[in-house]
Amino acid sequence: MTDKSAAAAALATVYGYPRQGAHRELKKAIEGYWRGAVGADTLRDTAAGLRRANWEQLTADGVDEVPTGDFSYYDHVLDTSVMVGAVPERHRAAVDADALDGYFAMARGTQDVAPLEMTKWFDTNYHYLVPELGPATVFSADSTKQVAELTEALALGLTARPVLLGPVTYLLLAKPAPGAPDGFEPLTLLDRLLPVYAEVLADLRAAGAGWAQLDEPALVEDRTPAELAAAARAYHDLGGLTDRPKLLVASYFDRLGEALPVLAKSPVEGLALDFTGPAAANLESLASAGGLPGKRLVAGVVDGRNIWINDLEKSLATLGTLLGLAGRVDVAPSCSLLHVPLDATAEHDIDPEIAPWLAFARQKSTEVATLARALAEGTGAITAELAVNRAALASRAGSALTRDPAVRARAAAVTGADARRSQPYEVRTAAQRAHLGLPPLPTTTIGSFPQTADLRTARADLRAGRIDTAVYEERIREEIRDVLAFQEKAGLDVLVHGEPERNDMVQYFAEQLTGYVATRQGWVQSYGTRYVRPPVLAGDISRPEPMTVRWTSYAQSLTARPVKGMLTGPVTMLAWSFVRDDQPLGDTARQVALALRDEVDDLEAAGTSVIQVDEPALRETLPLRDDDRAAYLAWATESFRLATGGVRPDTQIHTHMCYAEFGDIVRAIDDLDADVISLEAARSHMRVAGELAAEGYPREAGPGVYDIHSPRVPSTAEATVLLRKGLEAIPAERLWVNPDCGLKTRGWPEVRTSLENLVAAAREIRAGL
Ligand code: GLN
Ligand code: ZN
Repeated sequence: MTDKSAAAAALATVYGYPRQGAHRELKKAIEGYWRGAVGADTLRDTAAGLRRANWEQLTADGVDEVPTGDFSYYDHVLDTSVMVGAVPERHRAAVDADALDGYFAMARGTQDVAPLEMTKWFDTNYHYLVPELGPATVFSADSTKQVAELTEALALGLTARPVLLGPVTYLLLAKPAPGAPDGFEPLTLLDRLLPVYAEVLADLRAAGAGWAQLDEPALVEDRTPAELAAAARAYHDLGGLTDRPKLLVASYFDRLGEALPVLAKSPVEGLALDFTGPAAANLESLASAGGLPGKRLVAGVVDGRNIWINDLEKSLATLGTLLGLAGRVDVAPSCSLLHVPLDATAEHDIDPEIAPWLAFARQKSTEVATLARALAEGTGAITAELAVNRAALASRAGSALTRDPAVRARAAAVTGADARRSQPYEVRTAAQRAHLGLPPLPTTTIGSFPQTADLRTARADLRAGRIDTAVYEERIREEIRDVLAFQEKAGLDVLVHGEPERNDMVQYFAEQLTGYVATRQGWVQSYGTRYVRPPVLAGDISRPEPMTVRWTSYAQSLTARPVKGMLTGPVTMLAWSFVRDDQPLGDTARQVALALRDEVDDLEAAGTSVIQVDEPALRETLPLRDDDRAAYLAWATESFRLATGGVRPDTQIHTHMCYAEFGDIVRAIDDLDADVISLEAARSHMRVAGELAAEGYPREAGPGVYDIHSPRVPSTAEATVLLRKGLEAIPAERLWVNPDCGLKTRGWPEVRTSLENLVAAAREIRAGL
């Protein structure tokens, strides 16, 4: 690395930056616009100011080439739909009347029209708006936004690179428009889409772009030969254009695998590759593909989706190897910095021991700048940075927080028997039947009841010191009494306390577990103007004292019917947090599982006969590559069994999942060895029940009969129809009756009627058995 000439041109760059601003100015402006309190011009000015502030910040931190076009009022996939003119018929009038309002209509719907569907962006917690494409889709280029943002950055005298979602990934992320023929594949529209990209690229060149980046993260997933051939065709065609900027094709979130040689051979000028986590395999593939002679390689060596400082020496070693494989090597985070919070120095009250271990977007930008400087000038140029980095890494590795001997000893002593119930399901289910005495088709809910404004105010008052703990807790008890009284009156069979004390299903536990750390300003975009603050799994996890027993026991003291204890499972605790990168995920999951196991055992000892451990994230955390899935499912299911394995046979363990397609992980769901599962099913008319049956799932299950994503009240007749459908797949002695998910986002009036109807439907079916 002391040879300065080899890579004298090494640049630091990033693919995207948090959009919201240091004080979430963008969220405030957009929501103000929706309310009519902020004008369109003010919103545009706020947005332009934030873009400028980001570019200036990046430049000040040493980034040589800044991204443009990554900014968004809502979502960059939606921006791409606008760029290529893919506006669904139902939104056409709104878009024609006013571009900005039409854009928000596609994002959020209006009184009369449904929005685009929203789904997860690969395996992150960012959600994009799903393009709807059909045989009738006519694409047309609209480069206004891309050109305007490039022009803004160039006017500041910056080197700027427009970032676009690539055509192949755009099509692979789309779904067939309503009315498209069965089996329609959006990718078949590639030949129609490419000329539109060509036009946008020509416009960008005319506006002064030297390079343009086309993001193709879909190519890190397992792809069919036909899909790979489409990628080859796309970049052969785009590369063959004459009126265009140089093209940088970017991939991230995993390794490219068989797509790597496809892109390497295509006539584009550069590739951006991820070299972190499982994507580190790109290094070997690149070497065996013969490298990228004459091309630009942008090396994503700084983890763009986690919040830990980089190991600079390790990155320098990777970069050193890469220097021999490409014409030119630049340095970047592994993906857009959209997935991390803005600035770690804003965490004023974080533990001072932990602060130096953290790198948010700003700090990551500095890290890539530092690495690029070392490439260009030799490591001697970053001696001071290396020393600081080495010290911080050593402090983290040697800290009592990351190495709690008691936690480690306990985790090391776990045996296969710990992760197994003492009796098989068949024996347990009989014991539970006798113990609980429930009717056939028992009714229950998923846990939370409406989180009213009043409850949120009480929590805010407690935080601000306006009320004390005693007053707050009495408020919670009052809510539990109301929730219990309602459920008894409605005639539900297995009751819940309603989770009024919980701000969030992960944060609530994170706040009580040692080893977890909360941030103050660590906001990350989840979708649109919704931002979340994931807690940080910083150290070894232990449970200083029971977390939920008090509230569950209080609820149980109010009724003779069983009250279900309610916990968040280990996989979901990891999935919705920033995880440790200094040990395998499975090790962290095991620590969390052991802490939960103590809670499960304490709940049982306190007289709780039904305990639900929610794992809504089990499916979404599935690795992108098939090869990695078995190993993931092994530790994921083991951690669930470890959390729940200690209870008596007659204690009933429930689990709950929502949001996803579960057909491909039924085996893994069975491996959880839970007694009962509740799943989201109302919108898909019980499809999941059929999927469970098709795979021979042998346990009790409650496919949801009440869609809780809308205020709509399902009628008794409607719920009855769904239950009859459920009975076609699951026999009556194993079918439960419940909503799709928790009721925390709903209002009381609709919840009351909906649950009364749900109970009525269950009774009607029971009467006919
Ligand atoms: N028990 C949680 C609730 O009812 C489950 C939430 C979820 O699955 N996302 O709110
Ligand atoms: Zn749910």
